[in-house]
Amino acid sequence: MINVLERNVLVLNKHWMAIHVCSAKRAFCLLYQDMARVVTDKYDVFDFETWKDLSRYAEGNFIHTPHFKLLVPEVILLRRYGKYPKHYVKFNRRNIYQRDNFTCQYCGKRLPREDLTIDHIIPRSHGGRSNWTNVVLACSKCNTLKGDLTLEECAMDLIHVPKEPHWSSIMRRSMAEEDHYLWQKFIDIAYWNIPLEE
Ligand SMILES: [Zn+2]
Repeated sequence: MINVLERNVLVLNKHWMAIHVCSAKRAFCLLYQDMARVVTDKYDVFDFETWKDLSRYAEGNFIHTPHFKLLVPEVILLRRYGKYPKHYVKFNRRNIYQRDNFTCQYCGKRLPREDLTIDHIIPRSHGGRSNWTNVVLACSKCNTLKGDLTLEECAMDLIHVPKEPHWSSIMRRSMAEEDHYLWQKFIDIAYWNIPLEE
């Protein structure tokens, strides 16, 4: 169970297009500052006060303050921001696991997080960098087999050529992981309408 303040919240721009994912903590700040509204599955929109009222009777994940509790929203709508920013997926451990779908990129086994490691295709000892095209997930068996060798040296193959993931594919994966059923409505729209980069 992840900390509720760390839960992912989908952010829509003022035209109701999914543009970003933020933490629940950030979503509450935006809501409190009246820069964002909460969107529900019925497309109803709530400001901080009305959301606070609704939270008294709702069920779900809450944060508790000394005086009231607040339901963690799934989706928020920005009031003024209307742009569609170019997305870069952060190069971090979590997103590498999401991109490779918890699958060893050498043998294709899908495994729990703790049984996977991050492998440098060109080993760091050979000058390999830590970036999207040079790291993949590997199970401990494949990682041991590969050791400090290059692909040619160990005669191993990758099941996919690694590249920078598209932000919407990362969102889809975290959506499945955290059970954000409401995101689907907005991400499907974004998925079909975003300009393709290649
Ligand atoms: Zn493997």
